Amino acid sequence: MTTSRSQGRVVIAGGGIGGLVTALALHRAGVEVEVFEAVAEVKPLGVGINLQPHAVRVLHSLGLEAALSATAIQTAELVYLNKHGQHIWQEPRGRAAGYAVPQYSVHRGELQMILYRAALATLPAGAIHTGCVLERFDSSATGATAVFADRAHGNAEIVVEGDALIAADGIHSTVRKTFFPDEGPPRFSGRILWRATSEAPPFLTGRSMVWAGHDRQKFVCYPISEAMRLQGRSLVNWIAELQVPADAAPPRSDWNRRVDKSVFREPFANWHFGLIDVPALIDAAEAIYEFPMVDRDPLPRWTHGRVTLLGDAAHPMYPVGSNGASQAILDAEELAAQWIAQPDVDAALAAYESARRPATAAVVLANRQGGPDRVLQLAEERAPDGFERIENVIPREELEAIANRYKQTAGFDRETVNRKAGV
Ligand SMILES: Cc1cc2nc3c(=O)[nH]c(=O)nc-3n(C[C@H](O)[C@H](O)[C@H](O)COP(=O)(O)OP(=O)(O)OC[C@H]3O[C@@H](n4cnc5c(N)ncnc54)[C@H](O)[C@@H]3O)c2cc1C
Repeated sequence: MTTSRSQGRVVIAGGGIGGLVTALALHRAGVEVEVFEAVAEVKPLGVGINLQPHAVRVLHSLGLEAALSATAIQTAELVYLNKHGQHIWQEPRGRAAGYAVPQYSVHRGELQMILYRAALATLPAGAIHTGCVLERFDSSATGATAVFADRAHGNAEIVVEGDALIAADGIHSTVRKTFFPDEGPPRFSGRILWRATSEAPPFLTGRSMVWAGHDRQKFVCYPISEAMRLQGRSLVNWIAELQVPADAAPPRSDWNRRVDKSVFREPFANWHFGLIDVPALIDAAEAIYEFPMVDRDPLPRWTHGRVTLLGDAAHPMYPVGSNGASQAILDAEELAAQWIAQPDVDAALAAYESARRPATAAVVLANRQGGPDRVLQLAEERAPDGFERIENVIPREELEAIANRYKQTAGFDRETVNRKAGV
């Protein structure tokens, strides 16, 4: 660790999950940070997401354990069912699986508010700007200049300088588009996701995640509210997923796009799985959001001079292994660690990229192959009419290998997480 240089100053474009955790981690490392977020008012938008133990370790180290454990569900198990509701695979998760830290299932908007409030309380006054949209930027041998349009003041330009600019500006990143102008829109998988939350009675452990179906039709659900759990109820996040014809145009990748349930409900009308009643969950939702399942190809480089990418700007991925937000948080941790460990800014950005770019590319590609959900498709291909014993269809060793390989690829196998947590 070097202490010979001042810890410098970093400009962050984007105050989503990745941008805010980066701000908190760099601030703790002694770096002066300023965050510029496009939306005028940070609101609890989105539905549920998961935080895997490797990312939870980072958030706890930033002092967020109390807020997270009061808000999020500590996920206890993951259950895979075929389309008939038969058990394919079941494994404990988080602390129940012997991790030193939990896996959390949480409302994405509540997570963002926890991070936002922490950043407001921790960073110096005026370090977080909202309603400021990154318009353009420049990089020199000694730093980066970013120009933001201030929406509240007639798009007046704010010019900011730092030792580096971190682009945490999400799946439609302006910075990525500038570096790779020919990349085009996100790559459509041919599948559409409908996401919502519904109040329901608790199912299984009350802290279980269930994934049911196969590649062409899937339903995922898990509770996300600790406050509701304590009242004996469940706020269930669910995702209905359908494959659409190969030539279908994808809907816009807009996180806030609402649709009616009639668009997708019919194929799920008979999915009654004992304790999980899929049509009832769909009917109980107040607002349903449509999002295409998209990602982008891994990039050949993230860093251009003193500007680099982070989170979805760098590596948007299919939401099949519950890792999108977690990988953004790991990026933030690595960037802050390298900022301190390396002798200068260029070396820090290079070390950050060389640690995180291959690691996240592997997760993007694994998710394209179905990640841990591959067991669903295997069961469908080998036993479309169901089975008497799953062992006759997929041997236990094969199921275990799929689950373990994904945890290794995404970096959340128990030994690695516990070693980093000092256990
Ligand atoms: C409103 C919203 C709702 C979401 N809901 C879900 C969900 O329900 N489930 C799920 O799995 N994922 C959801 N996501 C995505 C999820 O947050 C990310 O996949 C993941 O957490 C990685 O975080 P990120 O910080 O890289 O990206 P994001 O969380 O998407 O954050 C990017 C941030 O950059 C800001 N931004 C964009 N362009 C600019 C610009 N030019 N200048 C300044 N700021 C800019 C955006 O407003 C946003 O706050 C949502 C994202 C958003 C923005």
